[in-house]
Amino acid sequence: MSVINHPSPNFEPRRTGVVDMLIFHYTGMENGEAALARLCDPQAKVSAHYLIEDDGRIFALVPEDQRAWHAGQAFWHGETDINSRSIGIELVNPGHEFGYRAFPEAQIAALISLSLGILGRHPIPPRNVLGHSDVAPTRKQDPGEMFPWKDLAESHGIGLWPCGEAVFIPPEHVVLAGLAHVGYDIWDPKAALTAFQRHFRPWKVDGLVDEETIGRLRALHRILR
Ligand SMILES: [Zn+2]
Repeated sequence: MSVINHPSPNFEPRRTGVVDMLIFHYTGMENGEAALARLCDPQAKVSAHYLIEDDGRIFALVPEDQRAWHAGQAFWHGETDINSRSIGIELVNPGHEFGYRAFPEAQIAALISLSLGILGRHPIPPRNVLGHSDVAPTRKQDPGEMFPWKDLAESHGIGLWPCGEAVFIPPEHVVLAGLAHVGYDIWDPKAALTAFQRHFRPWKVDGLVDEETIGRLRALHRILR
């Protein structure tokens, strides 16, 4: 794994000591060069700790002990300063706006090595390995339903992947309590459910409560730690 140093000026000191979240993004721009330029542009006021190109090249933009500006307005488990607690990784991909596509193998291989290193350096529990859409369900869709959550969890121990189970459908407030227990901001119930599906039931992201979604939520509860 080779890491190319490409410092961004867009960071500041972390406001909390602990780094216990890892957040994945896609760049959502037409190509990697444009994304890299934007993440290093002082006017743009955005950044991430790392950017990974299609071909697997990793660019290091912000030191891990500093606060990068990738999550924006966000929420997880009652915490709102997600930037202070997290490491952010951007994957080059045009995203839903410019032509969302599968993440190339070389890019995911680089992501796996980089993530394993990060998880070794910081006390990040599997339940806090998340997508931008998990922590900002009303605003964001990245890294999206083509992100290989299942493979990352099952083959590499990165994040959580529940095994589904068939169940009855409980009343809405119980579903919402279940999403809140995972960490979601349930202020907008449909957005929270959609974000949950985008991560944990990516083959059908419709924001509707069904048995399979409930089954996966229950199964996730069993493996939260
Ligand atoms: Zn993002």
